Amino acid sequence: MRDRYDVVIVGGGLSGSSTAYFLGANPDFRGRVLVVERDPTYANAPSAKATGGIRQQFSTPENIRIGLFGAHFAKNVDEYLAVDGESTGVVFREQGYLLLATSAALPILQANHRTQLAEGADIVFLRPAEIAERFPWVRTDGLEGGFFGQRNEGWVDPYAFLQAFRRKARALGADYVEDRAVDVVTAGGRVTAVRLERGGLVECGAMLDAAGASGGRAVGRMLGVDLPVESRLRTTFVWECREDVSRGPLTVLPSGVAWRPEGRTCIGNLSPPPERDPERFDHEIDHDEFERDIWPLLAEWIPPFEALKVTGAWCCHYDFNTLDENAILGLLPGYDNAYVALGFSGHGMQQSPAVGRALSELIVHGEYRSLDLGRFGYARVATGEGIHESNCW
Ligand SMILES: Cc1cc2nc3c(=O)[nH]c(=O)nc-3n(C[C@H](O)[C@H](O)[C@H](O)COP(=O)(O)OP(=O)(O)OC[C@H]3O[C@@H](n4cnc5c(N)ncnc54)[C@H](O)[C@@H]3O)c2cc1C
Repeated sequence: MRDRYDVVIVGGGLSGSSTAYFLGANPDFRGRVLVVERDPTYANAPSAKATGGIRQQFSTPENIRIGLFGAHFAKNVDEYLAVDGESTGVVFREQGYLLLATSAALPILQANHRTQLAEGADIVFLRPAEIAERFPWVRTDGLEGGFFGQRNEGWVDPYAFLQAFRRKARALGADYVEDRAVDVVTAGGRVTAVRLERGGLVECGAMLDAAGASGGRAVGRMLGVDLPVESRLRTTFVWECREDVSRGPLTVLPSGVAWRPEGRTCIGNLSPPPERDPERFDHEIDHDEFERDIWPLLAEWIPPFEALKVTGAWCCHYDFNTLDENAILGLLPGYDNAYVALGFSGHGMQQSPAVGRALSELIVHGEYRSLDLGRFGYARVATGEGIHESNCW
């Protein structure tokens, strides 16, 4: 590790590693990048433990465009991230997302569908009979239909995706160091150095706060900025059932339970209601949650899940943006070289390719060039006028 870098990235998860990769791949950038990651095992990082879903079924045009680039990137991942011709091993399982609609949700989902089509997403509306034919394990009485992404939606293994970004970023010259950023030095609206717990002061030309749910807000505070992001615990359960649903899509039930096949098993989770969703930093799994809150909702719409066996569970945290559940991207207020990528609230994995590309452009060129993500800037936090994304669950 040197004592000066052009860009210091705090947090080596998907946001930080994607930005490091896109900086290294930008022919106009000739600087040095340091990624500071306090836990390179990623034992508790959502970047390693997400569901892995990539979709375009959002209501915000920018989120749809980001999702389209995420799918393109995942499909062509080896063209971006292979090192010396060696495949990344990342597989995009293009099995779609299926959002089941009752009459209550139909008008909103229909409006969102129109926006998705206008943005070029390939989402179709399936009537109950079509759902029954394609996905016979879904109960369709009581349903108005479902919205299905027949192309460009599915999932990847997030850990493999993260490792591929890291490996390529390093191959392009980025240094990774196992350490914790504990403070910053600023002068005249600029960050001049980042202090590491073990490594001491590292001077920098620019810095990025990509420290996620566990550290992003604290890094913001070091810069005197209060970011409206809380750490919210989410538990993913794993179960088996007798019926083979392995060809199924990532399915979102009317209750908000989201599940998908993982080989011959299934994984799924449910975001608790706001009154039972405080900020938390622990990793305690509530093993009763599945039977109490999730199983009845699963069995209601997926009859084969009436008889199932839970075989595992893990937990990690959303970096939950309390203003609007959307990313906060770009320059931090009062600085011309301190950037942030935080607040993804459950969709930061699929957004990491577009976010890394966008931030690298902002850092190198001072503007977004591929996709204008200016709407996700901090300015909306200052005014309190969030972006309403209605396809969050
Ligand atoms: C249960 C669950 C399911 C999800 N499913 C999906 C999904 O299907 N699709 C999707 O797109 N997204 C999903 N997400 C969201 C996605 O995982 C996150 O938005 C994304 O991984 C955020 O990446 P990140 O790099 O910004 O943050 P993180 O993954 O949190 O990485 C931040 C890193 O910063 C490090 N760090 C923190 N503080 C410091 C410090 N002071 N110094 C040095 N290092 C520090 C941490 O150790 C961590 O490794 C899910 C999340 C959860 C919890």
